Amino acid sequence: MVLLQGKGVSKGVVKGQLYFFKRQDNTVTKRIAEDVEAEKARFAAAQEAATLQLTALADRCREEAGDESAILFETHAMFVEDEDMVEAIISLIEEEGCCAEYAVEQAGEQFAGMFAAMDDAYMSARAADVRDVARRLVNNLLGITQGGIDSDEPVILAADDLAPSETIQLDKSKILAFATRGGSGNSHTAILARTMGIPAICGLGDALKDELGGRLAYVDGETGSLYIEPDELTVLALKEKLDKQEELKALLSSMKGQEDVTLDGQKVNVYCNIGSVEDVSAVIANDGQGIGLFRSEFLYLAANDYPTEDEQFEAYKTVAAAMNGKRVIIRTLDIGADKQVDYFDMKKEENPALGVRAIRICLNRPEVFRSQLRALYRASAYGKIAIMFPMITSVWEVRECRRACQKVMAELEKEGIPYSKDTEIGIMIETPSSVFIAEELAREVDFFSVGTNDLTQYTLACDRQCNDLGKFYDPHHPAVLRAVKMAADAAHKAGIWIGICGELGADLSLLPTFLAMGIDELSVSPSSVLPLRAMLRKSIAKTCTLDMLKC
Ligand code: PEP
Ligand code: MG
Repeated sequence: MVLLQGKGVSKGVVKGQLYFFKRQDNTVTKRIAEDVEAEKARFAAAQEAATLQLTALADRCREEAGDESAILFETHAMFVEDEDMVEAIISLIEEEGCCAEYAVEQAGEQFAGMFAAMDDAYMSARAADVRDVARRLVNNLLGITQGGIDSDEPVILAADDLAPSETIQLDKSKILAFATRGGSGNSHTAILARTMGIPAICGLGDALKDELGGRLAYVDGETGSLYIEPDELTVLALKEKLDKQEELKALLSSMKGQEDVTLDGQKVNVYCNIGSVEDVSAVIANDGQGIGLFRSEFLYLAANDYPTEDEQFEAYKTVAAAMNGKRVIIRTLDIGADKQVDYFDMKKEENPALGVRAIRICLNRPEVFRSQLRALYRASAYGKIAIMFPMITSVWEVRECRRACQKVMAELEKEGIPYSKDTEIGIMIETPSSVFIAEELAREVDFFSVGTNDLTQYTLACDRQCNDLGKFYDPHHPAVLRAVKMAADAAHKAGIWIGICGELGADLSLLPTFLAMGIDELSVSPSSVLPLRAMLRKSIAKTCTLDMLKC
């Protein structure tokens, strides 16, 4: 047995084969074809492979989730065979004498553009499907595995580290757990793992050697231990833990349908954090009462180009409709720092966490902001959407955001497009400056949501990405907790509500502190909803104190 010790960043015990993530370059360059007929044959083979892949995906979906979910892949299979598109690809290969992947990419863009320009919202949203199909064909031509994992069975995915943009593009159905050499518990990759309920260990260091690939392993995401080919006794102990895990799950399921309220009647809304439309199923399965943070930037990170207004609208509308009138707080684009998106073509920065990120990008690039706000307001007609702005430091930023919202609402009004005039607008409290001016900010918005991940980073001057900082990155630090209290007091004084959507919201040891502060909402990963509800329902708010705020 080999035992490697790292830091557990997403709970759960799983068993599987270790598989090392291979980075693959899928950029297409124009290459002159030496043999035009050979390029056409390469395209035909890629087309055949795509049809097989899509048919298998449709079959699997039909088995697991019924006919409706299979339709997407069946539509994609039809695009693969579409006569006009195939003809355009073949003509490009013949007339320009270029390689098949370049021809597919060009034709894909041309057809996607045609769809996007259509007046009909349904048809224009198909542009994304065309791009998806073209990307599948290109990947087949380049020999790249769709979803990054070349294995029929789900695996324990091992890597140096994974960028959020890489994690979001992986095929989740193939991942049992993550095990990385580097990384930190506060990085977005770890947050994504918790959101998706996938066990994860980071900081395993160089002991996680490539030659361990293919070996049977157990991940314990609570203790941070990675057991490779464990001995019998260890297997027994791990199996016992697995059984307890299942027992606890069953026990917690009795919490479904129960109210989020303390024994003495203090109500706290328990909402969920999500990163993609797919995460909504976990919210519903865990009975989350709303979505307190939809990290919309993951739509951008999962794409190879700016998502169009229609693509975003479809995503937001799907989430809003699925939540059936429950509040869905969508945070506007929060990229920068560890969330880098190539096509934004951002300048390299010395201090990206302090650089051009989040709301600063949106205010600097009004067209990007406008397209997201239009998509959000259009989707607001289909559910209870609230809009939230990240990384606010000044009152003028909020006013500028509000002006952008007003402009978009006026546009939609003029175009006769439905939207909800009551859409709430809130901001994240995640910088010290927003805490210091919280009273003034509270007069400008409908709600606050505290981003304790960044608030800890900026209050303690401690990089959330750096695993070596260990105990220095301490979200329990009295300075951080006092900052939360200051924001809560300012919110309540102005008569608005305040939630917490940073990882601290799920920290059960702080629930009494948050109850004493009168926090109105806690937004946590879907798997944390029921444990939080169970503890909340056992708590007596009036006996809770603010002792944790003392040094
Ligand atoms: C936070 O900073 O606490 C937060 C919720 O936002 P993110 O983790 O995405 O930066
Ligand atoms: Mg943040």
